[in-house]
Amino acid sequence: MDFADTPAEAAFREEVAQWLSEHVVDEFAALGGRGGSGDESFGFEVRREWERVLGSAGWTCLGWPVEYGGRGASIAEQVIFNEEYVRAKAPGRVGVLGEGLLGPTLIHYGTDAQKQRFLPPIVAGDELWCQGYSEPNAGSDLASLKTRAELDGDEWVINGQKVWTSLAHQSDWCFVMCRTDPTSERHQGLSYLLVPMDQPGIEVRPIQQLTDTSEFNEVFFDNARTHVDNVVGAPGDGWKVGLATLAFERGVGLLGHLLSFRREFDAVVAIAQGNGASENPIVRDRLTKAYVELEILRATTLRSLTGVDGPAAAPEASILKLFWSTWHQNFSTLAMDVVGLEAMTTGKDYDLDAEQRAFLFSRSETIYGGSNEIQRNIIGERVLGLPVEPKPTPQGAS
Ligand SMILES: Cc1cc2nc3c(=O)[nH]c(=O)nc-3n(C[C@H](O)[C@H](O)[C@H](O)COP(=O)(O)OP(=O)(O)OC[C@H]3O[C@@H](n4cnc5c(N)ncnc54)[C@H](O)[C@@H]3O)c2cc1C
Repeated sequence: MDFADTPAEAAFREEVAQWLSEHVVDEFAALGGRGGSGDESFGFEVRREWERVLGSAGWTCLGWPVEYGGRGASIAEQVIFNEEYVRAKAPGRVGVLGEGLLGPTLIHYGTDAQKQRFLPPIVAGDELWCQGYSEPNAGSDLASLKTRAELDGDEWVINGQKVWTSLAHQSDWCFVMCRTDPTSERHQGLSYLLVPMDQPGIEVRPIQQLTDTSEFNEVFFDNARTHVDNVVGAPGDGWKVGLATLAFERGVGLLGHLLSFRREFDAVVAIAQGNGASENPIVRDRLTKAYVELEILRATTLRSLTGVDGPAAAPEASILKLFWSTWHQNFSTLAMDVVGLEAMTTGKDYDLDAEQRAFLFSRSETIYGGSNEIQRNIIGERVLGLPVEPKPTPQGAS
């Protein structure tokens, strides 16, 4: 497998690098590439403005078809863009959920009117989205969700609660999975609604995290409303649409993720060389092992993205999720060891450094996007042919 750029790809890389070097300046450069996972509140307003700069220059939604405002970019071009983006230390993106999840879902399942209304503001960086799936008793087992919606004239009226809703406090809209057939159970009778966040029926309560920031929230719906036309797919057929969104969750974004891991890795090697930790043969051994694993991860991800099955094909996606989330937790623990006693410094109003943030935030990476246990179930059942997990019994049944 040849990872080298073709002449056309090399020209595209040059174009991206050139544009970024001209635009990642002033307040955008001052962010130093921050604002990624676990650091979402950092410089939010500047990053929101940056999203509009990207949008106006045609650097959002690269993989979308041209007719919807994208560039119809190939996987290789999207990979190149991500690589150069991380290299340029461009600001952490704020429009990821709209671009990566809702947009592709609408392109596949939305009506023409929905596409015309919702896609352009995502491309322009004007409207931000959040994902309203998980509930207090419906996470891994999403089909047990209880948030309900019923029609009242030309509006859906929504009641219930979501939790862990990333960026809800900064979002304009939420795509919400809810039960629209009150007699239904499990995967039946669910609908996928597009709901405006700025209304009296929605209360967003931030959840404070280990990192002392609040990137995710509880969201309470108390007679919240959205127009009857804001249902994606047929009412009651939301499970199919919701699963499609989850499939889009894993894709070229992972490459960008891996590149930021590489940046973290390089920083930790520099710390080890500076503070003498690299003299320790065990540290050297662990760093080398981490490097080899990261290269394996990169090659496997590239192979999966360019493979015949296309991105996100299960169970490859499960193997990658299991591998990268575990790698990052292990590596961020190594980073703490390399930093040494200073890594223990924390307290009220203390600004955590990059290694501390990564160590704390990476705890969540084995949970979101499908926990490691769920990925192991998928691999066990679909790859190894092991016995299928027993399904939960309905409440009250034995
Ligand atoms: C940082 C972060 C951001 C998130 N952002 C969003 C968001 O924007 N929108 C959204 O809707 N949700 C979001 N989530 C929620 C995430 O999707 C859920 O946390 C995840 O699906 C797990 O659900 P749960 O937390 O309810 O845990 P549970 O499903 O209750 O699981 C608890 C434990 O039991 C294990 N377990 C559960 N079922 C099985 C099984 N069948 N076999 C073996 N083990 C099992 C799990 O692995 C886990 O260890 C986010 C979560 C995190 C951590």
